[in-house]
Amino acid sequence: MGPGILIKAILQGFFSLIIFGWAQVWMDIQPLLAMLTGKGELHGFSHTYIGATLIAIFCALTGKWIYKVIMKMCGQNFTEYQKKLFAVSGNLTTSVCITSAFIGTFSHVLLDSIMHGDVEPFYPIIPTNHLHLLLSIEGLYGLCIYAGIAGGAIYFTIRSLRGIQPRP
Ligand SMILES: [Zn+2]
Repeated sequence: MGPGILIKAILQGFFSLIIFGWAQVWMDIQPLLAMLTGKGELHGFSHTYIGATLIAIFCALTGKWIYKVIMKMCGQNFTEYQKKLFAVSGNLTTSVCITSAFIGTFSHVLLDSIMHGDVEPFYPIIPTNHLHLLLSIEGLYGLCIYAGIAGGAIYFTIRSLRGIQPRP
């Protein structure tokens, strides 16, 4: 989620962290089932860019409704200042859903390609994974954590400054 928070800080209202997270859940259903049952490939088709495209389309279509339900459950009874920091739209546009879902699934394949040797991101065109251990696992975790911290700081800084006009 760290890189997602950083992307949210940059794209603000043009990106949904909820759809991004929804895509992360669906990306790892196949590995979860493989681990629980001991059958099938650990990462397999879901962790290819073709699989990620299909999962992104599914998440973009379903995510819009998941987002609405979450927003209803949260309720946004904010003070004016809290509103400035935390309030988000109750609805997402289709383009935001699509963008967020694709960023979610494609970044997942990219990061898992670096982390796991069995991921074949460009299957069936290229049957090998040239990105494996391009960064160390510790380096990758560090990158994700720092991206999340930096993203959070940037996001709330931009939100808190929004609407403040320089005085003449
Ligand atoms: Zn994964």
